[in-house]
Amino acid sequence: MTGILIYAEANGPEIHPISFELLGKARELAEKLGLEVWSVALGCRISDKASELIYHGADRVYIYDDERLRDLNVVAYKNVLVELVRETKPEIFLLGATPWGRSLAPRVAAALDTGLTADCIDLQVSENGKLIQIRPAFTGNILAHIETVSKPVMATIRYRVMKKLPRDVNRRGEIIVRRLEEIDCDGIKCLGKVSERGISLADAEIVVAGGRGLKKKEDLKMLEELANLIGGVVGASRPLVEEGWISKDHQVGFSGNVVKPKLYIACGISGSPQHLAGMRDSNIIIAINTDPSAPIFRHADYGVVADLYDFMPKLINYLKERTGKTA
Ligand SMILES: Cc1cc2nc3c(=O)[nH]c(=O)nc-3n(C[C@H](O)[C@H](O)[C@H](O)COP(=O)(O)OP(=O)(O)OC[C@H]3O[C@@H](n4cnc5c(N)ncnc54)[C@H](O)[C@@H]3O)c2cc1C
Repeated sequence: MTGILIYAEANGPEIHPISFELLGKARELAEKLGLEVWSVALGCRISDKASELIYHGADRVYIYDDERLRDLNVVAYKNVLVELVRETKPEIFLLGATPWGRSLAPRVAAALDTGLTADCIDLQVSENGKLIQIRPAFTGNILAHIETVSKPVMATIRYRVMKKLPRDVNRRGEIIVRRLEEIDCDGIKCLGKVSERGISLADAEIVVAGGRGLKKKEDLKMLEELANLIGGVVGASRPLVEEGWISKDHQVGFSGNVVKPKLYIACGISGSPQHLAGMRDSNIIIAINTDPSAPIFRHADYGVVADLYDFMPKLINYLKERTGKTA
């Protein structure tokens, strides 16, 4: 029997949660298509994570645990995955649309000479048993339904759009530990990491996001201050990223991160469809905007019609007084 292969992303010893979401979806598809669910993880000191992948839906797990895979070398990872796919011939191969998955997937697809549908938000099975990959197109105005004719069908899936299954420690599966003779990096050598810091906007429970209502880069400090006070992280609309005020890690929206925090505070953001695509599922949305007709207010639970330069300092001072924190 052939299968659906899920790439379990590991950066360090932890498996990225998107891998469990993909396994959940793969289980659903596997029941409909009569396939098994397989998973593959590459990295260093990850062997003990194999059973977690089984508890979350995998029938079989391939593990490549090697000191030489400690660094995320995209060419080395691509070569290992391509070899595994050629050998095992899965029908479908899914990866997370994380920054790493987005870098890895097209290289694997090109080497296998197959298609790749990027950034899917859903996967369905058609009446004639084909996999339909659904992704926003034309800046999110339509949802394209895509069928790939080449094999394996490859897709990257956005983080936090699929549901993982409850962890079931009674599930049983096969763990295949692979040893690598040599690792082919095509001459690429990782000289070091530029920064260990990174924000995980997608996992944040509170996001304080700024838009073009901000007049200059330095004013983002105001958002940082509020975020620090309430345990949140700073997000941004795309124009701020394009201006170079803040890195793309912070961008919320269609071409940025999808967030589902408990609280989303939108400061000087109009609420374009592309921005809403990344935050409309937030639990509680507070919008601060001078324009009462701004579309963001149609999605906000609480709307503050005010100049953010007037409102934010007052809010920050109030919170400092109430909490005794200094941010
Ligand atoms: C292919 C494509 C992909 C895109 N992807 C994304 C994406 O991922 N994320 C994204 O955000 N955008 C994306 N965009 C851009 C998107 O179309 C909008 O241009 C963008 O979201 C607008 O950002 P904004 O709300 O910050 O700015 P604006 O639309 O200019 O809104 C600024 C708001 O601030 C308010 N304001 C002004 N001054 C103040 C003040 N002093 N106090 C309070 N409020 C004030 C104004 O009333 C206004 O509502 C994409 C566009 C395209 C074409």
